[in-house]
Amino acid sequence: MSFPEENNLDERDGRYLRKAIVWSHAGRRRGNRPFGAVVVSEAGEVLAEAYCDSTETGDCTGHAETNAIRLLGARKVPRDVLARSTIYSSSEPCVMCAGAIFWSAIGRVVYGIDAERLRVYRGERGEQRDAQLSCRDVFDASPHTIECIGPALVDEAAAAHIGAWKE
Ligand SMILES: [Zn+2]
Repeated sequence: MSFPEENNLDERDGRYLRKAIVWSHAGRRRGNRPFGAVVVSEAGEVLAEAYCDSTETGDCTGHAETNAIRLLGARKVPRDVLARSTIYSSSEPCVMCAGAIFWSAIGRVVYGIDAERLRVYRGERGEQRDAQLSCRDVFDASPHTIECIGPALVDEAAAAHIGAWKE
C-alpha cells in the first residue's frame, strides 16, 4: 500500500528531513548507498545523526537509522526522551530499521522517498532488492504508538539515488 506524498511538513520537520538528506549525500560520497538519518528531541536537540555505511564497513546492519539508534544507546538517551523524539530518515525505513525504531522507543518517524519509488532506482538486481513490507505494517503492530509521516520531500530525497545503484 502506498501513501500520497505529504505536502504539509512544517518548517521544523522540513529542516531536519533535509538534514537527513544531506547525510545521505555524505554517505554516498564515501561509496555507500545514499541513506541518512537524524534523531531530534522534542526540545529540538539533535541527539544523533548518521549515514548508511554498509559498503565501507561490510556490515549489512549499518543502515542510517540503525547507526543513529546505536549512537543513542552509546549516549544512554533515556527512553522517555526518545518516546517524544523524532527520527528523520531520507527514505522509508526498511523492515530491519522499522524494527530498530520500535525497540528504540522513538515515538515519531518522518521519511523522504518511499520504498516503492525507491525500487525504481534499486532495479531488479537481486542484491539490491528490498523486503516488501511497509514500515507502517511494523509500526502498526507496536503496542506503543509510533506516528509515521511520509513520503515527503520526495524529489529532494530521490536526487541522491540518481546514478547511485547498479543498472
Ligand atoms: Zn534499514
